[in-house]
Amino acid sequence: MNSKVTILGIPFDNMTRKEFLKALYERLNTGQKTFLVTANPEIVMYARDNPDYYQLLMQADFIAPDGIGIVKASHALGTPIKERVPGFELMLGLLEIADLEKKNVYFIGAEEEIIELTISEVKKKWPDIKIAGYHHGYFNHADPEMIKKVKKTEPDMIFVAFGFPRQEKWISNYLSQVDHGIAVGVGGSFDVLSGKTKRAPKLVQYFHVEWLYRLIKQPSRYKRMSVLPKFLQEIYRQKKKDKVQ
Ligand code: UDP
Repeated sequence: MNSKVTILGIPFDNMTRKEFLKALYERLNTGQKTFLVTANPEIVMYARDNPDYYQLLMQADFIAPDGIGIVKASHALGTPIKERVPGFELMLGLLEIADLEKKNVYFIGAEEEIIELTISEVKKKWPDIKIAGYHHGYFNHADPEMIKKVKKTEPDMIFVAFGFPRQEKWISNYLSQVDHGIAVGVGGSFDVLSGKTKRAPKLVQYFHVEWLYRLIKQPSRYKRMSVLPKFLQEIYRQKKKDKVQ
């Protein structure tokens, strides 16, 4: 059931959102330690230029195709991915599971005010989640004390919102020191959950142009998004290479 589609060296799990959640649910219930990465074209390009980060991604148990760019690339390469699986939606699905199963969840990342707002939202929407603890994301990420502090609470799930590559580095260290739990890097998701950043309107989501919407709302993202044309160029280079072989 779980096939992989490799895009510029990154092996994506070719599963629908439902299948991802089912697989995660099974691992949660069997107590298996799980590293979930949700990767968009920016992450793929970053991993291409940074071998240490690439190695971190290779430790992941699941890599979800976050963003329409990955899905389009998979089609262009002739190895279509079933659907895009936005990190934000996987997080909502996991919170739903945590609520139903009364699981212990830790939240770490974002600014102090945002994490406080995120926690009140979680309490409102998913009252049966046990909040293992929470912390803002502006501390020294290399400090082992934070890992010790989180570890003591034995969370079943931990959401880490530092943005890439910081969150994956921290998760890798964290998972090397615990023996259970699902850990996932969720980028700017707390900003959305807290209401600070609005998710794109439904119509924009439908037409798969959230990237354009975000760019207009937050022009500061331009520099980061400027890797997208390079991503497309690399995909077409790969396609040509595949044809020759
Ligand atoms: N962030 C953090 N600690 C840091 C840097 C960033 O907690 O040292 C948070 C930031 O407040 C935001 C989230 O990480 O909530 C995502 O940041 P960014 O937009 O830079 O990353 P992306 O969404 O592109 O992964």
